[in-house]
Amino acid sequence: MNILMFGPNGSGKGTQGAIVKEKYNLAHIESGAIFRENIGKGTELGAKAKEFIDRGDLVPDEITIPMILDRLKQDDCKNGWLLDGFPRNKNQAIKLDEALKASGLDLDIVAEVILDRQIAKNRIMGRRLCVNDNNHPNNIFIDAIKPNGDKCRVCGGDLTSRSDDQDEEAINKRHSIYYDTESGTLAAAYYFKDLAEKGGKVKYITLDGAPSVKEVTAELMSKL
Ligand code: AMP
Repeated sequence: MNILMFGPNGSGKGTQGAIVKEKYNLAHIESGAIFRENIGKGTELGAKAKEFIDRGDLVPDEITIPMILDRLKQDDCKNGWLLDGFPRNKNQAIKLDEALKASGLDLDIVAEVILDRQIAKNRIMGRRLCVNDNNHPNNIFIDAIKPNGDKCRVCGGDLTSRSDDQDEEAINKRHSIYYDTESGTLAAAYYFKDLAEKGGKVKYITLDGAPSVKEVTAELMSKL
């Protein structure tokens, strides 16, 4: 099974992707993680990508597209893959579609996690990390998981926040790319939606990203 996951930063797309990957034993390919790994290792690719990533811009297609298409040819992808973070614009969607056709591969599912832009932004900016356990859910903008004063709602521990979660300009830039239905990430998603509506093999599913992780997972599993 080959799957594409779409969803804005803050929609829980990564969490849902990890659950699907486990269930179907897929290779989980995250373009952002590949870039971060290359930056960490000090590779030439990492050096080229870093300046774009730091600004919240997309890494140019000449770098990103071959990197992902090569990754899909590796052995661990034979049993299927879940792509997260690619395609991020319409051109990448077209190039992916062409490459899959050329190698006789099918895209089975495209899943779009739908979440209002302001809610997505609040989720990111309101996220607080418990010093005792990062998995304790705390968010100052979500009533169900509001901290207890300025302490963790689960254990009373001190709370901190990720610095990149507080960079409003970078969050706005990333969301502007995501919600752009002309040439941005939603345009890439709709490229496949269009193929599905025209009777293509690919199945396009949408998920409401507003409820809890468990509820979104339940909807996802029922639609796969
Ligand atoms: P992410 O971890 O998915 O938020 O990605 C982090 C950063 O990596 C993005 O803000 C982009 O700068 C870059 N990036 C990830 N995926 C792509 C892509 N498909 N095309 C271009 N740049 C990307």
